[in-house]
Amino acid sequence: MAKLLKGAAYADSIKGTLEEKNRELIEKGVLPCLTIIRIGEWPDDLVYERGALKLFKEVGMQVRVVILPEEITQAALTKVFAALNDDDTVHGILLFLPLEDNLDAEPLKKMINPDKDVDGMCSENIAKIFLGDDSGFAPCTPMGVMELLKFYNIPLESAKVTLVGSSMVVGKPLAMLLSRENATVTMCHSKTTDLVEECLWADIIISATGVPKLIKKEFVKPGATVIDVGINIDRVTGELHGDVDFENVEPIAGAITPVPGGAGVATTAVLAVQTLKAAEKALLKTKHSHVRHREVRKHYV
Ligand code: NDP
Repeated sequence: MAKLLKGAAYADSIKGTLEEKNRELIEKGVLPCLTIIRIGEWPDDLVYERGALKLFKEVGMQVRVVILPEEITQAALTKVFAALNDDDTVHGILLFLPLEDNLDAEPLKKMINPDKDVDGMCSENIAKIFLGDDSGFAPCTPMGVMELLKFYNIPLESAKVTLVGSSMVVGKPLAMLLSRENATVTMCHSKTTDLVEECLWADIIISATGVPKLIKKEFVKPGATVIDVGINIDRVTGELHGDVDFENVEPIAGAITPVPGGAGVATTAVLAVQTLKAAEKALLKTKHSHVRHREVRKHYV
């Protein structure tokens, strides 16, 4: 039987630190605050939102949700975004993606203040992952997967990792984060010709495709670690499934994440970590501007 890699165990392990950091920042005059922008009522967005609200409440952190109608125009959405960018009481902005077909996320990725971009969607933050610069924000899901692997002491150095899914939200940044830990990474996508072969040699398989039950037992080397990032909600039954055929893969895997309760929960925990990091950045900026202001006054007075 495979070891279950539960996101909640990782989240529980950092709750004390989150609470303490949040308190410290409040004492220094900053009330850390995340603002989620949700357009419409997509079930996957609602799952993520509920998880975030629960965790933030547990550790005493502030989170606001801006709910916008599906018919919102690009201009109106841009206006909301700009207001949050300018609002000093907002430290992190999380926009649920993908957007409706009538909306374009690209201009928003370009305009978001990189210091508030807690889900690493702007090019400045993405570039920092590739440069090995930890001062920015990586997207929360790849970071959550990394934290989960480290929390459960899954060896990464020299490990053969097959990533299934190569999006900018999950696969590509995760490939970089794994490479930094000296893993040997193979990245697969819909045009990969022999997915079974690419997975079978892996010590760790990580799937983020949105294709339910794509990863079957034939793909998995006995004892391998299997991380399921997929969130697939059955529109008829409302049931939540991952990308992995859990029932048949679990008996042969060495370790596996459940869905729900695995990568998604770790993602939410990272969202809280990154919101506090954003609030710390805001505090530092205020301190620097006060120092600069004093220096300018000294110079002229
Ligand atoms: P995208 O649609 O942007 O990317 C999907 C990736 O999977 C693409 O690289 C695509 O290949 C690849 N793919 C699709 N079908 C196959 C296939 N049959 N074989 C191999 N590769 C395939 O999705 P996201 O990256 O945004 O999300 C992926 C999944 O992860 C979704 O279920 C999403 O809900 C979930 N997710 C979960 C999060 C969490 O916190 N747990 C957060 C973010 C996403 P190609 O590039 O060739 O099209």
